[in-house]
Amino acid sequence: MTIYSGPVFDMAAKQFGVIADYLEIPVDQRDRLLLPKRAVTVACPIRRDDGTIAVFEGYRVQHHLTLGPTKGGTRFASNVDLGEVAALAVWMSWKCAVTGLPYGGAKGGIAVDTKKISRRELEVLARRYMQELIPFVGPHIDVMAPDMGTDEQVMAWFMDTYSMHQGRTVTEIVTGKPVSAGGTLGRREATGRGVAHLARRVMQDLSIEANGATAVVQGFGNVGSIAASELHKAGVKIIAVSDHTTALHRPAGLDVPGLIAHTAQRGSLAGYSNELASDPKSILTMPCDVLVPAAVERVIDANVANNLRCRILAEAANGPTTPDADLILERRKDEIFVIPDIICNAGGVVVSYFEWVQDLAQFFWGEDEVMRREYQILDTAFSNMIERARRDDIYNRTAAMATGVERVRAAKNTRGLFP
Ligand code: NAD
Repeated sequence: MTIYSGPVFDMAAKQFGVIADYLEIPVDQRDRLLLPKRAVTVACPIRRDDGTIAVFEGYRVQHHLTLGPTKGGTRFASNVDLGEVAALAVWMSWKCAVTGLPYGGAKGGIAVDTKKISRRELEVLARRYMQELIPFVGPHIDVMAPDMGTDEQVMAWFMDTYSMHQGRTVTEIVTGKPVSAGGTLGRREATGRGVAHLARRVMQDLSIEANGATAVVQGFGNVGSIAASELHKAGVKIIAVSDHTTALHRPAGLDVPGLIAHTAQRGSLAGYSNELASDPKSILTMPCDVLVPAAVERVIDANVANNLRCRILAEAANGPTTPDADLILERRKDEIFVIPDIICNAGGVVVSYFEWVQDLAQFFWGEDEVMRREYQILDTAFSNMIERARRDDIYNRTAAMATGVERVRAAKNTRGLFP
């Protein structure tokens, strides 16, 4: 038991245990790798539009500081808690290490339903959260980014709040900012593009022609909509999508640009079509070539894993697959190719890293340069993963996480135990 214990952190711990066994890490060295270095909880009081005061709980967890500053997104969602944020920070660490970025993982969030607060309240809350965390973050300490429920505008408010306190503009304090405020070209699209890039690479390896192939996408926010759009542009039919309001199914393929235009205007897929409405739960088990879970964690449990009928599982969300489901997918590895989350959705943190580098240097790159370098890093991490998986006859997630854990462990061992 730790203060992080709960369904999501327990899942991250269980996954780590599998890797620690595989790498034969001595038991007394495991907690040093798994337990977060720092966790901060903050109370964020704001004045509501009706004049009353409301207090929202916020968190920031910094997993390890061994390789450089920590880096990670900020989630605004009603069920955010310390354990979930800690698990996401741990996953970020393996993700940064497997892609060779000089960061430890972090994550933060506020327990708030953003649909129940006004835009003014959202701005005040975002600014108050950053203000409370100023003693614990910094461009060389901990760099925030967007996640579920936060976007470029929230990052701009974070950056502005931090900068006001410093008395100068500090763009490198957050990534995922608008380009007009020191952001990089290609950041907003980076995660979804990376997901589609790797899915297409696996399709080629499996001799699945993009034209005529099918995909199902769960979650139609930043990551899901861009992944769907990139696959659609490559000729893949997106036969089903869903979000927190509804699911849509059209065997002949959905009009992805139309769906994106609808969500941009209405905020969700709700109201797009009654005719195409489908059961949100069943879309995960529809027959398709590529399944992209791009919403929340733990949607693929043992039952879903047994019933999956995709050829490729491209994990765009963080932690979409439970450890019990992994046992099943490991058995089904010749039928279903899993692109594990820490590589599949790493495009976001890779381009965030580029944004940080550009802000520190005050030297900005073109979008082609950003994309070329993003795909290069993802391709290298992916190639290393499949080589290790084939060599040791292990599951892709084990291969990817083992490389991440090994790199963090090597850095800790080289630096030694202080004092
Ligand atoms: P977002 O807030 O833009 O979109 C989330 C989407 O998921 C929305 O369409 C929402 O309606 C939908 N959703 C929420 N709960 C759902 C449910 N129970 N069933 C179906 N749909 C549901 O968030 P995002 O930035 O697109 O992030 C999506 C996932 O990708 C998260 O797991 C996040 O941690 C992960 N991720 C995001 C980035 C990034 O750069 N944004 C990077 C790496 C990983």
